[in-house]
Amino acid sequence: MNDKTSHDLVIRNGQLIDGTGTAPVPGATVHVVDGRIAWAGRENDAPRAPGGAAVIDAQDGTILPGFIDCHVHLAAPGGETSRVALAAMPTSLRTYLTTPRLLATLMSGVTTARDLAGLDAGFKQAVERGLVVGPRLHVAVAMMSTTGGHGDFRMPTDNGLVEASVSRIADGVAECRREARDLLRQGADLIKIAATGGVGSPTDQPDDEGFTEEEIRAIVGVARAHRGKRVAAHAQGRGGILNALRAGVDSIEHGYQLDDEIIDLMLARGTYLVPTLSTATHTFDPATTPPWTLAKKKQWQGHALASVPRAIERGVKIAMGTDCGIAAHGNNLRELGHLVDHGMAPMDAILAGTSVAAELLGLSHEIGTLEAGKRADLVIAACDPLADIHALGDATNIPVVVKDGEVFKNTLDH
Ligand SMILES: [Zn+2]
Repeated sequence: MNDKTSHDLVIRNGQLIDGTGTAPVPGATVHVVDGRIAWAGRENDAPRAPGGAAVIDAQDGTILPGFIDCHVHLAAPGGETSRVALAAMPTSLRTYLTTPRLLATLMSGVTTARDLAGLDAGFKQAVERGLVVGPRLHVAVAMMSTTGGHGDFRMPTDNGLVEASVSRIADGVAECRREARDLLRQGADLIKIAATGGVGSPTDQPDDEGFTEEEIRAIVGVARAHRGKRVAAHAQGRGGILNALRAGVDSIEHGYQLDDEIIDLMLARGTYLVPTLSTATHTFDPATTPPWTLAKKKQWQGHALASVPRAIERGVKIAMGTDCGIAAHGNNLRELGHLVDHGMAPMDAILAGTSVAAELLGLSHEIGTLEAGKRADLVIAACDPLADIHALGDATNIPVVVKDGEVFKNTLDH
């Protein structure tokens, strides 16, 4: 699979939406040479196709950049398993269970995924080596949390250790620096912190503050000092969102309680919002969900669904993230439909899942648009997403998925 010709590809006969925000191009072709885009645009203007390349007829479908999901938990089951059952599983079984989720995520049209707790760097390396099939990964490894915060899943009577594969507990500036450095030592591509409590944790509330502004500033400082790495903040209630913003995090994940002061600050600082509407709109199964989660969900869903239209209207930078792992895996692009349902234009939703998401990950030079020189991550959709964005949420409407020029899915008839 590593010889040069195997990565040469010509896609023709499709509408091109290239992820830059320019108008769709009908009758388009894309040339892929050695795993990268060589040309994308009108077929009539195209240079000669690379000799010996495989050809895919898009059959009047839409050619789009591979999508980027900025918030997944591939180690988490996506609703079907209780936390108790999960805790009873040996690590190796959990790893094997993660394999089909990686595959389903790629098949849904997501060619890059940012895992915000639960996957160590080995998963990323296994995908890079071709040992497992999945999206390109950015991993946070585990989420940093204060004692009793969103990453502390112990019950009140449990004084044991918090599971290090999911959470790292730190209190005070010195511990924050040490844990952040330790995550980077283990290969974290970014740092994920809990700036507030959350819906799934047993002993806190979404409007409880997590790390202080001072603690978060220390974590951001550690990340920046390691080749400018980014910090993503789980932040739901107002106070914790403000702490995270003032301390300089790159993205607010969830952002359930946004008011004008917060939105002004996000606009001034260029902070991204990852609204995770797939999870915010998700209804939990009472049979497998703890009662504290059900109660908090009921209370916070309304906040979440009111905040997002406000942020969209005021032009906050929004990147696509689903929180799959809480929501089910493999229909990640449903998030784009949710964004449109909450006020976003379909083209802007596509950008949230492509070029804007690439900016948030610091990967704009490599992915996010179909422009010459970028990695050939692309999908063909058997629909016009500008007319029906919801169609993208069904993986069967994504017949072709290409990552780094390699065709991982092709269900088009020839
Ligand atoms: Zn999450």
